[in-house]
Amino acid sequence: METISQEQLTQLLKRITGYNSFRPGQEEVIRSVLAGRDTIAVLPTGAGKSLCYQLPVHLTGGTVLIVSPLLSLMEDQVAQLKREGEKSVAALNSFLTPGEKSAVLRNLHQYRFIFTSPEMLMQRHVSERLRSLRLAYIVADEAHCISQWGFDFRPDYLRLREWLAGFSERPPVLALTATASDKAIGDIENYLMMHSPAKYIHPPDRPNVALQIIPLKDREEKTEWIRREISRASGPGILYVQSRKRAEMLAGLLRADGVPAAAFHAGMEKDDRMLVQQQFLNGELEWICATNAFGMGINKPDVRRIIHDQFPPSAAQYIQEIGRAGRDGKQSLATLLYSPSDADAAVFISLDELPDPAAVRFLAECMNNGEPPEQAGERAGLSETAVRVAAYWIAEEGADGAAGRMEELAAGKSREIGEMIRFAEGDGCIRERLLNLFGARPVGTDVVCCSACGLPADLLANAVPAARNRPALLDWQERIDRLFGVASS
Ligand code: ADP
Ligand code: MG
Repeated sequence: METISQEQLTQLLKRITGYNSFRPGQEEVIRSVLAGRDTIAVLPTGAGKSLCYQLPVHLTGGTVLIVSPLLSLMEDQVAQLKREGEKSVAALNSFLTPGEKSAVLRNLHQYRFIFTSPEMLMQRHVSERLRSLRLAYIVADEAHCISQWGFDFRPDYLRLREWLAGFSERPPVLALTATASDKAIGDIENYLMMHSPAKYIHPPDRPNVALQIIPLKDREEKTEWIRREISRASGPGILYVQSRKRAEMLAGLLRADGVPAAAFHAGMEKDDRMLVQQQFLNGELEWICATNAFGMGINKPDVRRIIHDQFPPSAAQYIQEIGRAGRDGKQSLATLLYSPSDADAAVFISLDELPDPAAVRFLAECMNNGEPPEQAGERAGLSETAVRVAAYWIAEEGADGAAGRMEELAAGKSREIGEMIRFAEGDGCIRERLLNLFGARPVGTDVVCCSACGLPADLLANAVPAARNRPALLDWQERIDRLFGVASS
């Protein structure tokens, strides 16, 4: 395609989105996609990565396929495109009824944007249909998921490789993420079969998110602090916790204190999760008490506070989670609570789940004998995630290979947790310490930095928001009943 002038590109931006100018990074990435190159774009949370795939297709024609890790994220992106007036968009996911799914599959060639999950993409009739479309380019959103284990481990992400290899002429691939270590970038290149991709890597700093670390004695002190702080601080906010139980418990305490709050975790029903997310997005809920199952890629511009009850097991995850604050560019605050026992708990939580070599061999043997891995895993006392990861590597590389992979994972996780412990316990500017872990430096000058550099009193002394005076929220079941017109007695 002949090169398009800056003026033409800006005009297109205006026509499609109404924005007047590109944000840092967007234009280069868009030009790289237009030039037909494989591209990796690492831009901070809220930088506007979606635009990088939304715009080029208006010049290339054809269809864009976006592989997205979470249903909720997919729904959010589809809704946003539709609000912007885009009609030819479809989400191919497990929310569809069989009838809806075949209707979408029949009409695939009519869509400009097709969102799907790696799991759906790997279904044979879907993968073949998608491969036969005139795809302008393929997008991997939140591409760091390719390189993760644990809650996020998705064998089908790794299988994208085979799917991509099946093209006689593969369309260019665009990988988008906010945080990527060198290892993650290597994995992205490898599993997405990229050919010398163009890389646009921006520092992950979010100058409008001030950072605070508060040392507390133990979990009880944390609970007290959270209740005190949240009953006087304005949201919207997300409180990240490490377990489903604690999410429920704290949400209950906050509601009792008159705060419109709800829990969100992977143990909840899909409909309940969607409802909570929706209520938070439209401002009916002010606080979400969530495990890491909440928030990836969700575009709620006015989140003012992020509180971590405990540090997540990696700096990349921490950056992702605090990055959900202040996407509108306004001043926001991220607080990490830290007590001395957190270090041991973090090591325990994330390493306990990893199967040891004996467990891997046991699983391999059972699988060899035709037993489903889930069943064998349960007998061996392994978590669902552990089984998913181990079974994938056993199938790929045999028992020894898989045991080796598990050891590599354990070593990597220990290193990452060690980094977070040093970060939480260290001295000096918190922002510099955090960015150091990514080999980056703070980008802003005049910023409200962190509790080590000193935070202004007015940022910390927020008034209770007016919204609190609303009547308490209905509970989910009641709301669902109302929505669907079931009479409540
Ligand atoms: P992320 O990089 O985290 O994926 P999104 O693509 O969700 O970020 O975009 C965050 C917000 O920024 C959205 O509301 C989007 O409409 C807005 N945005 C994106 N590009 C621009 C731009 N050039 N000018 C103004 N706002 C923009
Ligand atoms: Mg995004």
